[in-house]
Order: sequence, then C-alpha cells, then structure tokens
Amino acid sequence: MGIPLEDRTAQATEVIERLEHEYPESTISLRYSNRLELLIAVMLSAQCTDERVNTETENLFETYRTPEDYANAPQEELAEALNSITYYNNKAKYIRSACQTIVDEHDGEVPDTMDELIELSGVGRKTANVVLQHGHDIVEGIVVDTHVQRLTRRLGLTEEQHPDQIEQDLLSVIPESAWQQFTHLCIDHGRAVCSARSADCGACVLADICPSEKGDSEIDLASSEPW
Ligand code: SF4
Repeated sequence: MGIPLEDRTAQATEVIERLEHEYPESTISLRYSNRLELLIAVMLSAQCTDERVNTETENLFETYRTPEDYANAPQEELAEALNSITYYNNKAKYIRSACQTIVDEHDGEVPDTMDELIELSGVGRKTANVVLQHGHDIVEGIVVDTHVQRLTRRLGLTEEQHPDQIEQDLLSVIPESAWQQFTHLCIDHGRAVCSARSADCGACVLADICPSEKGDSEIDLASSEPW
C-alpha cells in the first residue's frame, strides 16, 4: 500500500506531475474535424471504445455532414450506419433528436454553453464538457469518464461514486490549469497500467502514493472490494 500525500490537493498535484512526465503527448483520441463531428463522436463513445468509434465515423462523417443530414435521416438508416457501436439504436435516436434541436434552436451551430448542451438529447455533463473543451476552448469542468472515476477513487482523491459528485470533488483539488489535461492523463494511465480488470501496480509510477496499491492493500478503493 502506498502512502498518499498529506491532503488531496497535494496528492492531485503530485499525480498530475508524474503522469505528465509519463504521458507528455496525452490528448483526446477521438477523430473529428469540426464541432458537430466532435459532438457525434463523443455521443457514440459512451460505453464503446474510441478505437471502434473512430473506425465507424470514418464513413459516417463522409455521408452525414450537417445537423440537417442527421435530423432528416430515417431512424433505421442511421442506426444501420452505426451498427457496430454499442446501443446503436438509442444513439441514433439521440443524435437525430439532438441535431433537430441544433437546427431548430441554435441556427445549425453546436451550442457553446453547458446549459444549452445538456438540453440536447443524450448529452450529459461529460459529453458537454468534452465539447466545450475541445470544440469551443471553454474549460469550466472536468470530464469524468470511467477511467477518471476508477483512478481518482483508487488514488484517494474522492470517495464519491457518481461522476457529477466526483467532478465536484476534483474541481476543488485540481489546479484549474490542469482541468482538461487531467482527464487525458487518467485515460492514458488507465489504459496502459491501471485498468479495470488488472491494475499493474508493480509497473506504476504512482505506487508509493496510491492507497490501493496491491503490495499491501487488500482493497481496491475503486470498487471498495478486495483485489
Ligand atoms: S496501478 Fe495500482 S498503484 Fe497504480 S494507480 Fe492503479 S491501483 Fe494505484
């Protein structure tokens, strides 16, 4: 078991510093070339790998180019175009509806406020934060995906379970300048070392400060269950 630093702010700062050293090129891995493509890609990535989304969107973005294209597409046609993606039927419905709202209420432009984004079908705080950060250069929150959720609990940065509450905890301990990058660092470390199935604590640069480290700790703080 590692020993976390004296308070969560110090712990978070140390985690960021070490992960920035490990993953200097860390950034979003979804492929997109404009805000609409970003929104669609993030909506498709819920419970699906970025790799699969990138494969699927290669053709999708050739066929559908405007919010009207998605809004006017028959449900079966759009679902068929997405059929290798998890929950493709529901995602097709959400995308058609969100794009209809973008056409009707936002002059065909992807909105640039949290309130307007989360009004769109199928868009929650996580998706809205990604679109604001990478589509509009507005950083007003921290994207809490499954990797951020797991790592921050393992590292003792939060004890909350729900992503929105985890985000609130993180906003108070992570320097604002790192709000965007923190997510990408957690995703890279979660994929490379600290995965859901097998945390490779022996190869982890955070082992000495991680209270979940397998050396002595019997508990995975992400699940509160024994390793
Ligand atoms: S790999 Fe192990 S030591 Fe590293 S952050 Fe994950 S649980 Fe902690």
